[in-house]
Amino acid sequence: MDAAPIYDPATYGLTAQQAALIASAQQLAADKFAPRAARYDREASFPTENYRDLHAAGLLAICIPQSHGGLGADYRTYALAAAEIARHCGATALTWNMHVCSTLWAGPLADDLQMDDATRAEHERRRAIHFRRIAVDGAIYAQPFSEGNASAVGAIAFGTAARPVDGGWIISGKKIFASLSGNADYYGVLCTEVTPEGTAQRRNTLYLAVPAAAPGVRVSGEWDPLGMRGTVSRTLEFADVFVEHDAAIMPRGVYFQAASRWPHMFLTLAPTYLGLAQAAFDFTVRYLRGEVPGAPPGKRRGSAVKQLAVADMQIKLEQVKALWFQAVSEARVDPTPEQRLRAYAAQFATMETANDLARLAIRTCGGHSMFRSLPLERIYRDSRCGSLMAPWTAEICLERIGRGALYQEGETDD
Ligand SMILES: Cc1cc2nc3c(=O)[nH]c(=O)nc-3n(C[C@H](O)[C@H](O)[C@H](O)COP(=O)(O)OP(=O)(O)OC[C@H]3O[C@@H](n4cnc5c(N)ncnc54)[C@H](O)[C@@H]3O)c2cc1C
Repeated sequence: MDAAPIYDPATYGLTAQQAALIASAQQLAADKFAPRAARYDREASFPTENYRDLHAAGLLAICIPQSHGGLGADYRTYALAAAEIARHCGATALTWNMHVCSTLWAGPLADDLQMDDATRAEHERRRAIHFRRIAVDGAIYAQPFSEGNASAVGAIAFGTAARPVDGGWIISGKKIFASLSGNADYYGVLCTEVTPEGTAQRRNTLYLAVPAAAPGVRVSGEWDPLGMRGTVSRTLEFADVFVEHDAAIMPRGVYFQAASRWPHMFLTLAPTYLGLAQAAFDFTVRYLRGEVPGAPPGKRRGSAVKQLAVADMQIKLEQVKALWFQAVSEARVDPTPEQRLRAYAAQFATMETANDLARLAIRTCGGHSMFRSLPLERIYRDSRCGSLMAPWTAEICLERIGRGALYQEGETDD
């Protein structure tokens, strides 16, 4: 049975072009990624073959403007395509997010932000270099920003330092949980420019593409986690790594501006988990209908208890689909306070619901459904990882929603 898209194009008002792109991602993932997913998970190895297929299909360049050789997809189209991929391989969808963000942030998102003419012209020239590498050469970009301190959530400046030198910068520091480590061609590193005053300031954040092969780049540490094993999120160390000025993916200060004015830039991890929520539901329906290959034969749908459980799952899925779609559709520069809070709510709900549906799927389908020969137990483990992901972890979303609902901008109790 061919799966219907998570969002029916007619019902959700998608154009024919958007629908075709999303359908092609779904087809690729169903045909090629699904059969490979168990192996990447078992080996905790990176889905290299999937990335070759993504390049061949033009999907590494999904958000690169057509004028630069990409598919020119907007934020929402990308998010819908990512959710479809995650239905079949969560680790591929999640790492694809890190890669695509490099192009989304440098591309359509940067177009919305304030830059003087000279800075914009320079950005235009530099991003063409990154876009060509990806669209033509199939280069893969990672996005390591976590450091094990409060920088990834925007509370302090990044500890990874970029010291200006003739022709570029010297980078030193360490990033943890760097998905695609050892497998990307470039690491899009968020770091703080060292200024003559010497104080690290968030507004001096630089976003630099460090070649994986540059002297001083080292991948270290083990990677044997509960879920999302194919992301290979090991530690990255930078020991006095030189990069030239053209390594800048965004001009100085533009990431800082984006983080406050374009908050939905951090909602792009959620599509993966929306796809996993759908996958848990799809599995349950097929399993109870006796349609999952490799599952014990026979239908299990006759019991009213099973039917009630499926109804509960469908209601949870419809709720999160509606909220997520609304939030993703509102992604823009300078959203209203209400839209901003809805984005946090969508992130929280998607991450938590994905794992909740996987939990209910196992309970409803029963013991045989959690064998490693079937995808459900992988969906269960992968879906557990969503709430941990900075900068919008579950706790941070709750904290910001609660505060934002009770206090207006700048309001205090004094
Ligand atoms: C599969 C996977 C892939 C990842 N890939 C990447 C990647 O490609 N790039 C990347 O940069 N990072 C990546 N990460 C890292 C991720 O975004 C987090 O940075 C990481 O999980 C933090 O782990 P920690 O042990 O330091 O937890 P902490 O950050 O210490 O979190 C522990 C708890 O404290 C809460 N917390 C943390 N800070 C605050 C705060 N300021 N206010 C309130 N509560 C707070 C958290 O919500 C959480 O409950 C990945 C993580 C996973 C699991």
